[in-house]
Amino acid sequence: MSKIADQIVRFRESVEPQATLVAVSKTKPNSDLQEAYDAGQRHLGENKIQEMTEKWETLPKDIHWHMIGHTQRNKVKYMAPYVHLIHSVDSPRLAKEVNKQAKKNDRVIDCLLQMHIAEEESKYGFDKAELSEFLKSDAFKSLDNIQIKGLMGMATFTDDKNQVRKEFKTLKALFEEIKTGDVLADRHDFTELSMGMTGDYEIALEEGSTMVRIGSAIFGSRD
Ligand SMILES: *Cc1c(COP(=O)(O)O)cnc(C)c1O
Repeated sequence: MSKIADQIVRFRESVEPQATLVAVSKTKPNSDLQEAYDAGQRHLGENKIQEMTEKWETLPKDIHWHMIGHTQRNKVKYMAPYVHLIHSVDSPRLAKEVNKQAKKNDRVIDCLLQMHIAEEESKYGFDKAELSEFLKSDAFKSLDNIQIKGLMGMATFTDDKNQVRKEFKTLKALFEEIKTGDVLADRHDFTELSMGMTGDYEIALEEGSTMVRIGSAIFGSRD
């Protein structure tokens, strides 16, 4: 078995059935993605729309493509026909654009709302107050072509495991609050909590992750 196939099997064994493994293939060549596919992997994650679209055009059509990176609104149209789940909806304006492009394609696009949970300033996402305001707004309620499937967050890049755990706990608590509350209409199947990458997925699973996004541990480090 190839090294990539090996890692796919190993990770699937350690995260399923609690969580879905999203293999993050950004910057990697199609041949690497095909190896993952041949090992049975169907969920792949990318962070650039153009790169993802080129890969989608070439690779098998039953791959579920996950957009995990910060997205420019003017490029949403390229992925709208095929994207499986957008993890990184980080503003009301982006949600509105995804809705518009979904409508043009006569489909409903599944989205996660990205929350800002890390200490670093640079990470994108809603804070709790912004999220609450957005979900209660009339503008949100008119977005019939997106389904909010859950939340996504990235912890601070640090060796301090307690810090990472604390941030994941905060995200999980918010997730439960929305899931059990009545702010979202019933048509939203709010079930997914995307948290955990190569460096912190074990903590994320302990804290209730349902989707881990693993790149370098599967495909090797990126240049
Ligand atoms: C690149 C990336 C990952 C995967 O990172 P690894 O540390 O290589 O596992 C996960 N999530 C997001 C949002 C990313 O951009």
